[in-house]
Amino acid sequence: MADILGPMTGAGRYAPSPSGDLHFGNLRTAVIAWLFARHSGRDFLLRVEDIDVGRSSPESAQRQIDDLLTLGLTFDGEIVYQSARFDSYAAALNRLPVYECYCSRKDIQEASRAPHAIPGSYPGTCRSLDDAARTRRRADLAAQGRVPALRLRAETDSFTIHDYYRGAYTGEVDDFVLRRGGQEPGWAYNLAVVVDDGFQCVDQVVRGDDLLSSAPRQAYLASLLGLPVPEYAHVPLVLGSTGKRLAKRDGAVTLREMLVDHSVPEVVGRLAATLGYAGVDKLSQLLEVFDPEELSRDEVVWESI
Ligand code: GLU
Repeated sequence: MADILGPMTGAGRYAPSPSGDLHFGNLRTAVIAWLFARHSGRDFLLRVEDIDVGRSSPESAQRQIDDLLTLGLTFDGEIVYQSARFDSYAAALNRLPVYECYCSRKDIQEASRAPHAIPGSYPGTCRSLDDAARTRRRADLAAQGRVPALRLRAETDSFTIHDYYRGAYTGEVDDFVLRRGGQEPGWAYNLAVVVDDGFQCVDQVVRGDDLLSSAPRQAYLASLLGLPVPEYAHVPLVLGSTGKRLAKRDGAVTLREMLVDHSVPEVVGRLAATLGYAGVDKLSQLLEVFDPEELSRDEVVWESI
């Protein structure tokens, strides 16, 4: 266990993917995660989720870190970079029941349209292939310069987590990918996040609502690895004017863009207002008044500041 489980202290974390500058929605989630951790006396850790080396860059990671510090967030311990943790993912994978999957995205889409299939979930096409079929399919892929993905052989089809705001939440668990295949194989987010939360002793995961449906898969994986399952709090994402999640198309949404015409206290003031604490413009002050029970759960729509 020593390879994946670090020293035992409770912690919260913020885990951005460094593929662009942090925007108002990212900052809001980071601030809420920080408030939850500090309010409950936990450490607060930063993890750079640069698992996808093609889409991440060290420059982007550094800009994100600088932005979080500019805003006034404080972190404990060393920053963990997923790109430096591939050996730990391999060690964890070795302890899990897995099978090779040769399906293309199109194969999966077609199979999941079959009657009784659960939309979006892997229908188990490659789960029970015999050795001869596996040898053939592996060779077919190799001829195209591709390698198979590795999927978890899940022994359940659902798992229940506890979410601070929703209570018990039961979600689907399928044979999800642990190692991506194709021409550029790589570690899957669901494996990395679980191994890293275990390694960093994270017992409180506060993040955007878009990841709620992944939490049961991740919690199930943690239980298979003998890691404690964290307490979750999923919070609403900030939406742009079109009703979709906030993005570049919505204007000057990044911290750097906002700071062209506004001060840090003005940005913090706007963040605090969306949490239900209008009039507060410092993070230290926000922490004094913060009560997770009172946090506004309303949908937040971006308005330029
Ligand atoms: N890296 C993910 C993101 O930026 C967040 C992962 C997590 O918080 O579990 O969306």
